[in-house]
Amino acid sequence: MEISNRRDLFIKINKAVLNCGQCRLCRTRINAIPGEGNITSKLIFLGEAPSSEEDSMGRPFIGKSGMLLNELIAKIGYNRREVWIGNLIKCHPPENRDPMVDEIRACSPYIDKQIDIIKPKVVVTIGRLAMEYYLPGKKLGEEHGKAFRVKNFIVFPVYHPSGALRNPAIKNILVSDFAKIPGLLKKDINEIAFFNKGKKSDINVGISLF
Ligand code: SF4
Repeated sequence: MEISNRRDLFIKINKAVLNCGQCRLCRTRINAIPGEGNITSKLIFLGEAPSSEEDSMGRPFIGKSGMLLNELIAKIGYNRREVWIGNLIKCHPPENRDPMVDEIRACSPYIDKQIDIIKPKVVVTIGRLAMEYYLPGKKLGEEHGKAFRVKNFIVFPVYHPSGALRNPAIKNILVSDFAKIPGLLKKDINEIAFFNKGKKSDINVGISLF
């Protein structure tokens, strides 16, 4: 796909997200946050939902967690502008509660479409919920740092940097998991085993908005 076509599609998605009223989170958000970065990157980072700080600033992964994510990305030879960073859910859930299943259903067409356009090779899911969207039934404590083929990309779950800010042991795990990412980007995707043979999860039910 031509880069200009990708940009046009992203502009359309961004506008749809910024004006979205598809679930109750539109009533409490300050900013809807579509995601940012390189829309041709082979590597993307996907969190679960914006924090209150991100909600105020209108950008994904800022503040202390975002700084640690930037540091981890730099350790593997990239900078933030070279990759794409976003969230599964585009609006902040009040009091930092987990997004509800109907909110995930309402919002997931955006990330599905964004991934269709970016065509990443590796989707690094950050935290439990982003992992569960692609790997339902898996436990982050057991599966972090492992690669799974989902559709035509690789899902690579890691802990959320906020956990590492509270527990230095998690930071060491994150550093070691991130160190595997450059190798994954070089690997033949056909060598990675499919998760669940491409079946959709209970919550991964896309509703086409486009
Ligand atoms: S969370 Fe997603 S579906 Fe809900 S209002 Fe925000 S952008 Fe729309």
